[in-house]
Amino acid sequence: MNAKILETENVTVSFDGFKALNQLNFNMDVGELRVVIGPNGAGKTTFLDVITGKVQPTIGRVLFKGKNLRSLPEYEIARRGIGRKFQTPRVYLNLTPRENLEITSNRKKNVFSTLLGRSPVTEQNSVKGLLETIGLTAKADIPAALLSHGEKQRLEIGMLVGQSPDLLLVDEPVAGLTDEETYNIGELLLTLAQSHSILVIEHDMEFVRQIAKKVTVLHEGSVLCEGNFEEVQNDPRVVEVYLGQ
Ligand code: ADP
Repeated sequence: MNAKILETENVTVSFDGFKALNQLNFNMDVGELRVVIGPNGAGKTTFLDVITGKVQPTIGRVLFKGKNLRSLPEYEIARRGIGRKFQTPRVYLNLTPRENLEITSNRKKNVFSTLLGRSPVTEQNSVKGLLETIGLTAKADIPAALLSHGEKQRLEIGMLVGQSPDLLLVDEPVAGLTDEETYNIGELLLTLAQSHSILVIEHDMEFVRQIAKKVTVLHEGSVLCEGNFEEVQNDPRVVEVYLGQ
């Protein structure tokens, strides 16, 4: 059996009695790229919030690398190796891409990272390597404010990768992007998936088709079904919940 990077066991999150997550059982393997989809209100954001410690499960457990995250503050969960990319880019606009990567990269913490069993610095997460991976070498030294929306998204993904996360959570990375920018983000995530465990929340079905090997569909806070893109797309239950929106 493959080692699990992430597991949720019967996770319920109640807000004043309303269950945003309802006995959610989910797991993904180390090294997997998983896409989670679901109609509005399905619980996708709450799912990321409960993984990162922003909200606590009312019932159930979240396990990261086999360890229960119960009651840990967000910064401690991040320190253990979960990186979260929010929907809108959070880059320093007055700094260049190179500077953005330099101030967020963990090169200086390398010794501690190694002691903590975290991934060592590789060519891919050196600043030079990161600039190449995210396709911004030619724009490395202009202010980030001059980048397109898609380039800013790629830069922020690079900033997270520079911190050597063991699990990368990516929330709707292609909302508002052109087709070409969307495709570029997809290719970047596929490249990163060769060496990272990645969980992506996304609405754009063409994008999901491009990147997903395995898709999990959330509905009313639970897993409705899982499978490859075609299986999920043709599942009558999925068609029904999307048409019901
Ligand atoms: P999604 O990201 O799939 O659209 P969310 O996780 O944002 O879904 O929300 C799931 C459900 O939980 C929604 O009905 C939403 O209104 C509700 N919800 C989310 N956060 C809160 C909160 N802090 N208080 C009350 N209800 C919430």
